[in-house]
Amino acid sequence: MTKGHTRNFIKSNYNSKPEVQVRELPPKINMLKDGVQILCPFCPVPHPILVGQDSACGTTMKVTAVQTIYPARTTKKHNLICIKCKKGGGEMVKFNQSYVHAVECAPDTKLITVPPKFSLAAQIVYQAPPWMKNRIAKIVGYPKEVREVTAEGKDTGKTLGYFFFKPEKSA
Ligand SMILES: [Zn+2]
Ligand SMILES: [Zn+2]
Repeated sequence: MTKGHTRNFIKSNYNSKPEVQVRELPPKINMLKDGVQILCPFCPVPHPILVGQDSACGTTMKVTAVQTIYPARTTKKHNLICIKCKKGGGEMVKFNQSYVHAVECAPDTKLITVPPKFSLAAQIVYQAPPWMKNRIAKIVGYPKEVREVTAEGKDTGKTLGYFFFKPEKSA
């Protein structure tokens, strides 16, 4: 069976067609002296569109973060190893030249995309006894060590610095 056949077969199985559909186009861009204006690509007389706000013509703009994921069959096929938990298998995403599991696999280790602000205070608190650490953590965050990891995912053993880490509130 060809690919085309498969597609047709799946399509004919949908017996309820939605009442509305969505069309997508990149917005028109209007260069201004002090920035850019994002315009509706569908209207003959273009008008500005805003994120999350419906225009009279029904057009809205969405901003999407897009990340490539490597499904389990791909990570298995290429023997990709996660740089956080050092295990293979499962869904991964790329991190520099290495790969990391798409779902949290080692909560104590965080990969940092943008270096944090290092502080000497964080270093001092990091080396402080636990009771003091915990007390300070409640106020400014938990002191964390930042280790150097090469683009290939090797831990060089070098400490780059310390910073106060405040986890984002999760339910
Ligand atoms: Zn419009
Ligand atoms: Zn992992």
